[in-house]
Parts: sequence; C-alpha cells; structure tokens
Amino acid sequence: MQKIKQSHMNQPKITNYAPLLVAPAQVLRGENILSQLGDAISPLARRCAITNAKLGKRPLVVGGNKTLEIIHPYLEQIVKKYELKTTQASYLPDCTESSLSRLKELAASHQADLIIGVGGGKALDTAKLLAHQCQLPIVTIPTSGATCSAWTALSNIYSEASAFQYDVALNRCPDLLILDYSLVRTAPQRTLVAGIGDAIAKWYEASVSSGNSTATLTIAAVQQARVLRDILFQKAATALENNQSDDWREVVDATVLLAGVIGGIGGANCRTVAAHAVHNGLTHIPSAHQALHGEKVAYGILVQLRLEEMLQGNQLAVSARKQLLEFYTSIGLPKTLEDLGLGNISLCQLRQSAEVACQANSDIHRLPFNVSPEQLMAAMVSTKELSDSLSAKAIPES
Ligand SMILES: [Zn+2]
Repeated sequence: MQKIKQSHMNQPKITNYAPLLVAPAQVLRGENILSQLGDAISPLARRCAITNAKLGKRPLVVGGNKTLEIIHPYLEQIVKKYELKTTQASYLPDCTESSLSRLKELAASHQADLIIGVGGGKALDTAKLLAHQCQLPIVTIPTSGATCSAWTALSNIYSEASAFQYDVALNRCPDLLILDYSLVRTAPQRTLVAGIGDAIAKWYEASVSSGNSTATLTIAAVQQARVLRDILFQKAATALENNQSDDWREVVDATVLLAGVIGGIGGANCRTVAAHAVHNGLTHIPSAHQALHGEKVAYGILVQLRLEEMLQGNQLAVSARKQLLEFYTSIGLPKTLEDLGLGNISLCQLRQSAEVACQANSDIHRLPFNVSPEQLMAAMVSTKELSDSLSAKAIPES
C-alpha cells in the first residue's frame, strides 16, 4: 500500500502551460525618443532565409488620421537614410474585421514586411492583430497614456457600430515599443485620466479573479496590481497638475508599462471581471461611444464593488468604493452614468447593456456569486449611493 502511494506521488502531474508572453522584446522610452525610430527599427530588419532579400524595409504604418499626420515628419526623416518604402493607412472606423481585411490586402499589395502601429488603444490593437495575421514584426508607438495596448499580446475586436465583440490572444508581445513622453504629452489630459481608470481596475478585478491563487506568477501579478493602484493613488493628482513633472512620467509608466506587465505575468489567470464586463455592455449603447475605454472601466469598478456589496454584503467593497469615489472626484473620473454622458438613456438601453454584460461567456461570471441583468441594472444606477452611517465614518484602511 505504502509503495503504491509513493509511486503515485512521484508521477509527474501533466499540465499544459500556456506560453508566457510577458513583455515586448524591447522597450525604448524617453523625451523625443521617436527621433531614434530609424535606428530602433533597423535591427528588426533581417534577411529572408530563402531569397536573401532584406526584410523590414517596407513598413506599413497603421494609425488614426491625426496620429498618422503626427508621425509623418519622423518617418520622412528616416525613409531616405534607411532606404525605407513606407505606406500609411488608417484603422478607422474601428478595430473591426472589415478594417483588418482591408489592411491585410494593403499589406499584401505593398509587400509590407513590418507593421508600425501608432495611436491609442484601438489603433494599436488593429496594428498588432494585422501583424499577427500577416506574421510580420510589429512596432507599437502609443500616443497617449490611455491604455496598455502598446505592451500586450491581446487585441479587442469591435463591430462596425463600435460595440465590443471579442478579444484575440496574439502569439507574442510587440517586437518593439517606443514610449515617447513628448508625444504622449501632446494628448488631451483626459486620455491619461482614462488610462488611470483602466490601470487601477487591474487590482479590483485581479484580486477577485485570482486573489486566492497559489501559483507563483499569478500571486506576483495580483501584488503588482496592488502596487500599481497605490502608485496611482499617490501620484495621479500631482501628475495631472504638471505634465512636466517626474510624477507625470511615473504615472504614464504605470498606465502604459506596468499595467501591461501585470497582464503579461498574470496572463489568462489574471483576467478581467465585472468592471470590463460593464464596459463591454456599455459599448452597445451608441451614446456611450464618446466616453473613453478607461472612463467606462472606471465606472465599471464602482458597479463591481456595488454588486459585491449588494449581493454578498461585502463591507470591504463599501469602503473601497468610498475611497474610489473620493479619488475619482480628485482626478475627474466618472462616478455615474450621468458623468459618462448617459443620463438620458432609456430603460431598454440600460437593460440591453446589462444583458450583454451578463451573457454566458462574460467575465462578470468570475465574481464568486451569480449576477442577473436586473441586479446589475440596480448596481449601475446606484454607484454613488452611500448609507449615512458609512459616509459619516472615516475611511477604513483597505
Ligand atoms: Zn481595459
């Protein structure tokens, strides 16, 4: 008996581990670092094993109309020096299947051998997925601090009407990320505020989906998410006051880089929960499109905490929500549907977004309790509600 047990214990447990896609192969950051674009992309050039032709000389640059204009002078400078043949294309109207098939045709006709994505999250998601589908190297150049898309091996697909459809796991993180603070500084401040909302969600979602994990890398990712939250609590307000300050650069590093690190280390084990599910539901309301991704996610965190409070009686969620309400007030993140510009939506639209958020495959079901669309609707309209007894109390430590 003893012997059988022993041999059973010695048998290796067979587990299929997903590949680790932790970080871009190279990250360059600094003021005006974009002027080094040519030197930075030239190592990506290599010779084709079959024809011995030089690869990496025919970049296809994908971005929004405005960002393509911004990058144009930089590209002009390097085109001659590095003998590049570049072409540019807009990802608009959105990161959709039709945009991707149009860009794939362009990549083929241009004989593109490198994709450069420049812009916000949707432009970068499109460029990354295009490179993935064409099996080409990818360079990401974020133009705002609104998301960590420049870092991650993930792209979100939207419908023609900009409603969230599904996400696609890519086979690697970008080959090169260029974070130019001078470029990010030209973006409206609202984009960095939204990025703070998206980044802070990592803690509230990862601690619910993976807080009890015993896996080394998942524990590390959840702890990094807590560190990220604390950095943002400490530095967000001062960063936003002065975009020339060290705090501003640290906050950009937090939203663009550290948020990506957490996704990279945590991978599929550190997934989004209700905050992003609420965001996904809201994208099905046309008037929600003027609110940025991170703004909808930030509101979604409050909805998630409200659900934990209403359905689980979780008092920690109450104090966390109170702390966030104060934080949001100090930096200008939306606390209610009204703040998102959705004060006049119909009951039917609210129900539709709640139903999308509660679909069977939604990440909202990573919460440790069931949520119905009716319960979600109740939480969505009461994100600011605080009982008198609580609002009178000092904020407990979370
Ligand atoms: Zn997000």
